[in-house]
Amino acid sequence: MIANHRGIGMTSMRTRERMIKRLKDEGIENKAVLDVFRNTPRHIFVDEALASRAYEDTALPIGHSQTISQPYIVARMTEVLLGEQGEDLPRKVLEVGTGSGYQSAILAQLVEQVYTTERIRALLLQAQNRFFDLGLRNIKHRHSDGSWGWPENAPYDAIMVTASPNEIPQALLEQLKIGGRLVIPVGDYAEQRLMLVTRTASGYEEKVLDRVRFVSLLGGKQ
Ligand code: SAM
Repeated sequence: MIANHRGIGMTSMRTRERMIKRLKDEGIENKAVLDVFRNTPRHIFVDEALASRAYEDTALPIGHSQTISQPYIVARMTEVLLGEQGEDLPRKVLEVGTGSGYQSAILAQLVEQVYTTERIRALLLQAQNRFFDLGLRNIKHRHSDGSWGWPENAPYDAIMVTASPNEIPQALLEQLKIGGRLVIPVGDYAEQRLMLVTRTASGYEEKVLDRVRFVSLLGGKQ
């Protein structure tokens, strides 16, 4: 449950309910995911000037040429990461690309522990303040190039990447548990596919899910 936040009153419940209805219409079914979306104040993850647009089904700029992903994509990736009903829920999740922190905040309410990495320090600092304000204490963050994962805490039950590499980084595959799930966009700016990779005892199974458009996964940090 998210702690009270002074900005929470800024958007009416009606605006949020409209977003939930749209997500359902677009095929999001997981009730726990929908509940977390309803209770998470998305408007505090964007600049105040954009707060009134925060619940629209669109990506929005967060500075440094980066974006907060559209609600549908965040919901879709979360649903895929959690798996089908009857499958074990992931407990320990790595996210690559903290950005605004919205996706981390959603995950933190659904799994036990979230590790998140971001290459742009200024974004990570802002996200860290938001986690604190919301009382989310199960998110550990690191300023690093997440293409290398976060090996000290590996293996992970699930990994989510919110920026697109041309090829899946080997380090992320290696840091998945057997049975673990990696949700990742792959491709260049012109052509990207959202993929689900599952680690099996003998290798990796890949499934192509949707066409998507993410910012690029870049090397190094700033
Ligand atoms: N999950 C974010 C959110 O909810 O706002 C999405 C942010 S944006 C689509 C992707 C983020 O990935 C950007 O903030 C970008 O700086 C970050 N990024 C790109 N390459 C990275 C890398 N190698 N390691 C860590 N973060 C990276």
